[in-house]
Amino acid sequence: MPRKILVANRGEIACRIIATARRLGFLSVAVYSEADAGARHVRLADEALPIGPAAAAQSYLSIPALIAAARRSGAWAVHPGYGFLSENAAFARACAEAGLVFIGPPPEAIAAMGDKARAKALMQAAGVPLVPGYHGEAQAPEVLAAEAARIGWPVLIKASAGGGGKGMKVAADAAAFPAALESAQREAQAAFGDSRVLLEKYLQQPRHIEVQVFADTHGHVLHLFERDCSLQRRHQKVVEEAPAPGLDPARRAAMGEAAVAAARAVGYVGAGTVEFIAEGDGFFFMEMNTRLQVEHPVTEAITGLDLVEWQIRVADGEALPLRQEAVLLRGHAIEMRLYAEDPARDFLPATGRLGLLRLPRGEGVRVDSGVEEGDAVTPYYDPMLAKIIAWGEDRAVALARLRAALAGCAVGGVRSNLDLLRGIAAHPGFAAAELDTGFIARHPALLEAPPPAPPEAWAAAALALWQRDAPGGAAPWLALPGWRLNGPAAAAPLALAEGAEIRRLAVAPLPGCGLRVEGMAVVPDGPDAVRLDGHRQGWAVRWQGDALWLWLGGRVHGFRVPDLLAPAAGEAAGEGSLRAPIPGRVIRVLVEAGQAVARGAPLLVLEAMKTELTLPAPRAGVVESLRVSPGLMVEEGAVLVTLRPD
Ligand code: ADP
Repeated sequence: MPRKILVANRGEIACRIIATARRLGFLSVAVYSEADAGARHVRLADEALPIGPAAAAQSYLSIPALIAAARRSGAWAVHPGYGFLSENAAFARACAEAGLVFIGPPPEAIAAMGDKARAKALMQAAGVPLVPGYHGEAQAPEVLAAEAARIGWPVLIKASAGGGGKGMKVAADAAAFPAALESAQREAQAAFGDSRVLLEKYLQQPRHIEVQVFADTHGHVLHLFERDCSLQRRHQKVVEEAPAPGLDPARRAAMGEAAVAAARAVGYVGAGTVEFIAEGDGFFFMEMNTRLQVEHPVTEAITGLDLVEWQIRVADGEALPLRQEAVLLRGHAIEMRLYAEDPARDFLPATGRLGLLRLPRGEGVRVDSGVEEGDAVTPYYDPMLAKIIAWGEDRAVALARLRAALAGCAVGGVRSNLDLLRGIAAHPGFAAAELDTGFIARHPALLEAPPPAPPEAWAAAALALWQRDAPGGAAPWLALPGWRLNGPAAAAPLALAEGAEIRRLAVAPLPGCGLRVEGMAVVPDGPDAVRLDGHRQGWAVRWQGDALWLWLGGRVHGFRVPDLLAPAAGEAAGEGSLRAPIPGRVIRVLVEAGQAVARGAPLLVLEAMKTELTLPAPRAGVVESLRVSPGLMVEEGAVLVTLRPD
């Protein structure tokens, strides 16, 4: 009987681990929450077991549920992926106690690196360079303020137990420090149950460069070069590449050695990443992630190695298959993360059904995804849809392939950051590798909402609607009134809407097959293409009720058939109410009934997809009623708080 690996995760990383497990001759066991019963990772695995309700705390974060599933399946080992319990020492211990091999480092190494302050103390002792800062035990506000002044402004406050950017605040000067500290401590307490913080000098234009390390149980430690992850939004990665552009060989070697020293200092085993922040010629230890990283595919692309394979072999007691000198760097790879989120609304996570999804293929292109067309993006988990990775002999080739791959991507039904990714890939500053963590913020044009649909898209949408509503298929208009042989037809105009704009389009059937829409000839050409005044282009049409997702000219356009009798938007919408912008869980209510609030004042905090959203008052007034309490799950559009004029 082949050995089984249980993948204690979901989404693209679960799919990716299952693929390597299968290639190495293992059977894979997926786990799923109630929200994921039909998810792609469940369909890919050899077996799958339920582990509880949709909320991660009761499923993917439940150690008892996962251990029970591993026992029930007879698994040999557990791979935690990234996120969830991947850096949880108690989970690693629970696996060992249940006789399961944990595919990751020893619990002691996870614990040592899990606390940013403790990790920094260890790294200092090991001679690894640190950002100037404070990571001591004393947490009294006066002590911290004095340390901050010593470090010099601006200062970055980080949660010691932190991750995912939570509990991280910049204080510009001494006056701003107390409020920033309080807010960081509050966030840290809420997210990690631990309000301790550390301080760092806030670097102005740094690069994030991290080194992939690997260690086995035979005392070998090596590195697999670095990744540049400087392109970030809200201090979280969006684009990663390997090697880091412009890094000279001496500095590459120095960073590799520092990372290996860091891993040795904690008795590391398995795959890990040592993160540095770099500015000028200096590079400083930030933290170590004791797991596989989201961006590991770029390292795989330039080394030709399968990191999950190495993880499994090391967990099975094998020695690392290569020595440091034999690890070769070839070419260049760039990864972009496709997220369900709205860049124009401060990267608000988006939910919905993926009515249309196209992911690219091509020479040198790899796509890791956890979703397929028709899947739902729920508020429960991380909103990443896919990773698009392009490799080339050099950075220019990798970038050209990436641009082409992004052109072949399409997402409809859920807002995504695809236009942002395309904008970055097309940006001369990115082509010139002007990388630092402020890149996206410095180029706000990248975040603009996409322009409205061009006339071609309206015309193609009209054809799609015509085809949908016509009885009888291939030449459907034969059955419709208004069609006349040879002559201009007099069909009724077709009504379509994009956002708030409603148009009535004059249409007339063309002889043979096709439609004249507002003077433009629109002729279908096989199932996947359309000719617009002769210009042949790929298209795809997906209906969800009266909503249409139309892919044309490399873009997805969302139209709908308007209900012309419905009241105008806003009329019945209860202008004075705060509504949930997306589905989520209420975690804090910040106001009381009867309280007067200014426009923009924070009313409550909603948690959706790992992000905390503070929702502001839509207008000034008095809180009339609170419709929710902490812990409640709410649907998109639900009224949370009603306000009346003061
Ligand atoms: P988290 O674990 O919460 O993601 P990290 O410590 O990994 O936090 O930092 C995340 C990002 O924040 C970094 O990649 C970088 O962009 C920014 N950052 C962290 N430390 C500093 C610093 N000292 N100065 C400037 N930016 C920083």
